[in-house]
Amino acid sequence: MILKHRTKPLEMVILQSLRTRSRLAPADATHLDNLEKGYAGEIQFDRRISAADCRGYVINDLLLDYRGTLFQIDTVLLQPDVVYLFDVKNFYGDFIIEDEKWTSANKETEIKNPLLQLKRTEFAFRNLLKVHGFSPVIRSFLVFINPEFHLFQAPGDLPAIFSSQLNRFLSGLSRQSAATPLYRDEALAQKLLSLHLEGNPYSRIPEFDEKDLRKGICCPGCWSFLPANQNKQYVVCTTCGNRESNTEAVLRTVKEFRTLFPDKQLRTRIITEWCGIVDRQVIQRVLQKHFTSGGKGPSSYYVSS
Ligand SMILES: [Zn+2]
Repeated sequence: MILKHRTKPLEMVILQSLRTRSRLAPADATHLDNLEKGYAGEIQFDRRISAADCRGYVINDLLLDYRGTLFQIDTVLLQPDVVYLFDVKNFYGDFIIEDEKWTSANKETEIKNPLLQLKRTEFAFRNLLKVHGFSPVIRSFLVFINPEFHLFQAPGDLPAIFSSQLNRFLSGLSRQSAATPLYRDEALAQKLLSLHLEGNPYSRIPEFDEKDLRKGICCPGCWSFLPANQNKQYVVCTTCGNRESNTEAVLRTVKEFRTLFPDKQLRTRIITEWCGIVDRQVIQRVLQKHFTSGGKGPSSYYVSS
């Protein structure tokens, strides 16, 4: 049972929008690329774990604090006897471990040793639970989700699950978990949920100004800007053919605006300008229908209903 679903990190949502509407600095573009790869790997792991139908509680993307040090866990699976921590890595290519250093096989790229991170996370997690009166058996694993990843000289006792082992590992879990989760698992799950912190202290969002961003509605499928609206009912992407109703497209674009500019008021004029290609009357109708209006006349604005 999933107690906490994974959502796209805010940092990624904002950077994706900025990439489409402006030009990202190379470092930000690389950072976004890494975020997207990481997220894609996590989503893939979520699918696999759902399909395995293992009993117990799944909590995704936990951000916890142990004595002032924040740590994040991609997936926690609470089973009756063991609490599993999974750190999902979507690495691609051939890598090698030498003297605890992880490098690409051609030695050109070094990656931060994920095992050290995993050990630190497990240590903090174990001690945090102890503070709250829980001492479960904890097993933590690196999950290398990408079948195109190979690790040379991996020690046999490396707490890692490679793509080719994942099915067997997950079916092993399902079998182990035939018993109904015990009450204490639920108490522990609820405790973890209550300790979760919102926000990401590591996020790196560059500064940006509305006037520098290209206006318009972007396709949700391919990020292309949609052409000027020809139809009162729907918009069609000329690049990928995606079609959605005007209302959906406007609501999505208003949501994007609010994510980028949480402090700005929603006004018909501003949103018409932001969406660019849809008539003011359509925008007004959508805002009136889906938001509550505040103020009167030219100073009127909209807030969430
Ligand atoms: Zn498209």
